[in-house]
Amino acid sequence: MQKNRHSMFTSLLLVSGSSFVLGLAFGYPSWFLALALIAWSLYQIRQFNKLTDWLQSRDESQEPPEAPGHWGELFDELSRIQRRQSGRENRLRNIITRFQESTSALPDAILIIDKSNNMEWWNGSANRLLGLSNKDDRGKPVMNLLRDPRFIRYYKRAQYTDPITLPSPAHTDIQIQYQITRFGEGDRILVARDVSRLMRLEQTRQDFVANASHELRTPLTVIRGYLETFLDQELPRPLLRGLGSMQQQARRMENLVSDLLLLSRLEASHQISDEQPIQLQSVVNHIMEGAEQLGNEKGHRFKLDIDPDHDLCGQEIELHSAFSNLVYNAVRYTPSEGDISVKWWVDDQGAHFSVKDNGPGIESIHLPRLTERFYRVDESRSSASGGTGLGLAIVKHVLARHNGQLTIKSKIGKGSTFACHFPLEMVVKAERHDDDDDFDGNELNSAEGRSSEMQTQPAVNNRTAAPE
Ligand code: ADP
Repeated sequence: MQKNRHSMFTSLLLVSGSSFVLGLAFGYPSWFLALALIAWSLYQIRQFNKLTDWLQSRDESQEPPEAPGHWGELFDELSRIQRRQSGRENRLRNIITRFQESTSALPDAILIIDKSNNMEWWNGSANRLLGLSNKDDRGKPVMNLLRDPRFIRYYKRAQYTDPITLPSPAHTDIQIQYQITRFGEGDRILVARDVSRLMRLEQTRQDFVANASHELRTPLTVIRGYLETFLDQELPRPLLRGLGSMQQQARRMENLVSDLLLLSRLEASHQISDEQPIQLQSVVNHIMEGAEQLGNEKGHRFKLDIDPDHDLCGQEIELHSAFSNLVYNAVRYTPSEGDISVKWWVDDQGAHFSVKDNGPGIESIHLPRLTERFYRVDESRSSASGGTGLGLAIVKHVLARHNGQLTIKSKIGKGSTFACHFPLEMVVKAERHDDDDDFDGNELNSAEGRSSEMQTQPAVNNRTAAPE
């Protein structure tokens, strides 16, 4: 362009100079100059008009007009730019077409939602799975179409780490898993996947575990009954020892069966239905009595720090089970004379229940997997402790049903802290009851008065014990 400007200027100088010199020769320099300038301008206007006509023509394949000198160079330059531009456009168009083809071939629905929560774009599967219509729904707020209050709560939440599963708004027999990801400046991508088959398989698995556990209960009760009767008889010592060991294993199986049944019940629904204020102090006192029986002669030093003014809203049996699992684990894994502190408090972040021990601790690589069923850090120690391997899985499910979270901190050789955190809206003011029999830590530390039977037969089911 710079070059064109120069050559235009040079041509103007040449025309003016030569016409002026010619004019001088004929004695009319001004006339010659004026005529030459008019002719020069008319020529430039003509070329400019040619350029405008070419640029405005809709036919992109049309060749640029022919012209000599700087106008010719300008036309060629513009033609090159136009070719490059249309090549780029074609490539982009191809990318968009391929993107649309590939996204519509996907079985999952994909929606792009702008920062004003309006649906900007979606693929073909979104029409099928969510019942969207390309014609009517484009640009509409996503919450007008996906109206389930659980989805709206999930959508408004700032964190989308976990997906949410709900029935499809278009076909109630289809279960959809929604996962949102943020991008750009406040935009979101929503991926919706049909998980009906997975859910059916999961349901079958849950039903199988629940039925098998239920069926095992009766024969186990019969076996235990007979064993108890035999153990009351005058029998030779080796036989009694064998029967005692059989009774212990039968009890372990009973614990396992009740844990499996409890887990199946917890998995059956994700929300609690009969939520009510529970008296934290009396629940903890009851758990501590169980801990005393379980710890037996280990002489643990218990420390209790319970905020008496706040209680928790929830399902009492479930919360009792979760808290007792944490306390009983501390008792079972902390060696004799160890310290165990149980704390309940409320602060700005919510309500917290924690159990801290100075037991062996857990290596950090195990921590993320501890809440998996049957995951054990040390198989031999865990089995010897009488655990079923389901305790922390139960805790995790109970907390999820109470909008709570479990955190585990542990250091090898120093001990572990298991803490349950609940949102503030689940906290209620405590009502004082005169019959709240306060737990006395010293009383539990005393090993006096324990029968030797308790040593091998803790009077509590260490998983599902609930207040009477
Ligand atoms: P278990 O019935 O084996 O105790 P859990 O699910 O309750 O099963 O716990 C899983 C594993 O976590 C246990 O096997 C044990 O290795 C470890 N664990 C749990 N609580 C503690 C604790 N307080 N101190 C050390 N290890 C623990």
